[in-house]
Amino acid sequence: MKCPHCSGRTAVGLDTHSGGFTSEESPVKECGACGLVWRIKMEKGAAKLDIIKQVI
Ligand SMILES: [Zn+2]
Repeated sequence: MKCPHCSGRTAVGLDTHSGGFTSEESPVKECGACGLVWRIKMEKGAAKLDIIKQVI
């Protein structure tokens, strides 16, 4: 998946194993180019961007 901030394609999944992901939340992704951390949440059937660590 492309980074929503810089459109970089080097995003990696963060394998946290800490929160117990549900089917409604995708694993956290981190962009290798700009450092943005985000995930996609499903809300009422629509994908919603959830920025966890914003970059300047
Ligand atoms: Zn990025």
